[in-house]
Formats: sequence, structure tokens, C-alpha cells
Amino acid sequence: EAKSLGPGYLRVYDHFFGENVHSRLQLTADLKQALETKSLSVAYQPQFCAQSMKITGVEALLRWHHPEHGQVSPDTFIPLAEQQGLIGDITDFVCQTAIAELSTADLLGTSIPRLSVNVSGHDFDDDNSIQRFRNRFEAITDWSLIQLEITETAAINNFEKTFAVLTSLRKAKINISIDDFGTGYSSLSVLRKLPIDEVKIDRAFIRDIPTNEDDRTIVRTILAMAHALDLRVIGEGVEYKAQAEFLKKHGCSELQGYLLAHPMLLEELKAFCNSEQSHLKSLLVVN
Ligand code: C2E
Ligand code: MG
Ligand code: MG
Ligand code: MG
Repeated sequence: EAKSLGPGYLRVYDHFFGENVHSRLQLTADLKQALETKSLSVAYQPQFCAQSMKITGVEALLRWHHPEHGQVSPDTFIPLAEQQGLIGDITDFVCQTAIAELSTADLLGTSIPRLSVNVSGHDFDDDNSIQRFRNRFEAITDWSLIQLEITETAAINNFEKTFAVLTSLRKAKINISIDDFGTGYSSLSVLRKLPIDEVKIDRAFIRDIPTNEDDRTIVRTILAMAHALDLRVIGEGVEYKAQAEFLKKHGCSELQGYLLAHPMLLEELKAFCNSEQSHLKSLLVVN
């Protein structure tokens, strides 16, 4: 039983759930129930302007605290939700919760200029996807406050449908970001056909900036390309000052990562927005 395996059980659980039909079904049932009882929560990770260190937005990240297994990673339950046809309900929940929480706290459009939501390739599958997205943002009058993050792989794999939906939403002022950029090996000529505002450099390329010349070259190349196409660029997974400095030096417009701020629930986010954020000021002195 996964539960009795001690502190490391989640990894073991993730592993065995891949091969075990019973636990998969059970976890699916549990996820359905969590959705119905709204016992999922949304964490928000701030994103910052590399120049001013002011908050430019937050990324909504779904959290599931399982009654027996504890925190289950979205890297486990999102693929499951995709396979089991639950992703539309997940996206509904995240949008609804994030908009309600940030609006009630009067953060969206004030201290927080933009809300980024992760969407799945499966969100573009049905014929009704455009309308379903529109319904999700009904409560917001200014849709330039909203950004959708879609992974490079999802966008390319389902190009026709993604293209149609993103084009329609972008006409309505919604921002589009390509998540995990650089991992999908997509050609620039394909990617530039999509109506996008931002590319998000994958953490895998940010991680070894301090030590790996090849990764520095890749990051510089992505930045040069994005500038030529007039796109915003955000670096994700920034954990060290050297990474932040390199990205800033080469013109990366925004930064996100544990160095700056962790994902946090609403109460903590409110406190964060009202605080001095003095740890960020030390990042400003360097050019
Ligand atoms: P992602 O969209 O690329 O999100 C970034 C992940 O990196 C998040 O993991 C975040 O907590 C983590 N992270 C942020 N800063 C750092 C850092 O400095 N270092 C390291 N090592 N990690 C950092 P998380 O929350 O576990 O989410 C994992 C993935 O699950 C996300 O990757 C996204 O693909 C998916 N996901 C999360 N929430 C949702 C959701 O609401 N809907 C959908 N469709 N997918 C989601
Ligand atoms: Mg993301
Ligand atoms: Mg990412
Ligand atoms: Mg990812």
C-alpha cells in the first residue's frame, strides 16, 4: 500500500499508478469527487518584470490534496484528467476559482496586471471550445487581463484546432503564451503562424545557465528570435541570481521562479502583494 511507504511514497505511488489499473481507476474516481466537492485549490506564482521587479502577473497552478495520499502532483493528475475526459472541468474550475479569488481580493487589474492559466491541448478538441473559453471569462470585462499558457507540443500537435481557437480568443484581447518553449522542436515557421504574445523558456534551459555554454547559447538564440518577432519572453524556473542576471542582460522581459516567489495560496499572495518584497531589490542593482 502506497500510504505505508513513508515520506517518499508519492514518487513510488506515481510510478506504480502508471501500471496499475485499479489505482488508476481509483485515482480517477477520487479526482472526479474532488472536482465535484471543489476540494481542489489554486496556487498563484507571481511573475516579474526583469527591469523593475514589479509584478506583471501570476500563473494559476492547480493543487490537489488527496485525503490519503497527500499532495498529488499536477504532473500526475493532469495527464490522468486528459485521458479520462476531465480536463474541460478542470480548466473550468481553475478559471472560475482564480477569477473569483483574485477579483474578490481586488488584486486583478490592480496589484496583479495579468492572470495566466494553463490549458491543455484537449481544451481545443471539441467544436464548442471557443464558446467554452468565452464562458470561462464572462465575469471579466477586460480580457487583456487574461493569458492562456499552452505548451509548444500541444499547440503543434493539434495545430488546426488550436490555431482557430487561439485566433478567435486573441481577437477578443486574450494573451497567448507558449509554455515549455524549446522542448517541442517545432520549426519557427510553424510557430510564428500562431497568434502569440509570449514565449516561456522551459526550465530545462534555464537550469544550467551558470555552467552550460550550450544552454546559454540556446537561451540567447530564443531571446533573439523572440525579439525579432516582437514577442515577450519569460524565463521559468529561475532559482539563482546568476540565472536572473543572465536573462536580464540578454533582454528577457520577465522572470518567474523560486528565487523571486514560490506558488502560494490566496491569503499568502495578498500578504506578498502588500509587502516590501525587499529580497527582490537586491536583484535590481545588477545590470
Ligand atoms: P508549468 O505550467 O510549466 O508550470 C511550472 C511548474 O514549475 C509548476 O509546477 C511550478 O510550481 C514549478 N516551478 C515554478 N518555479 C520553479 C523553480 O524555480 N524551480 C522549479 N524546480 N520548479 C518551479 P507544478 O505546479 O507542479 O505544475 C506542473 C505542471 O502541471 C505545469 O507545468 C503544468 O503543465 C501542469 N499544470 C499545473 N496546473 C495546471 C492547470 O491548472 N491546468 C493544466 N492544464 N495544467 C496544469
Ligand atoms: Mg505554465
Ligand atoms: Mg512551463
Ligand atoms: Mg511544464
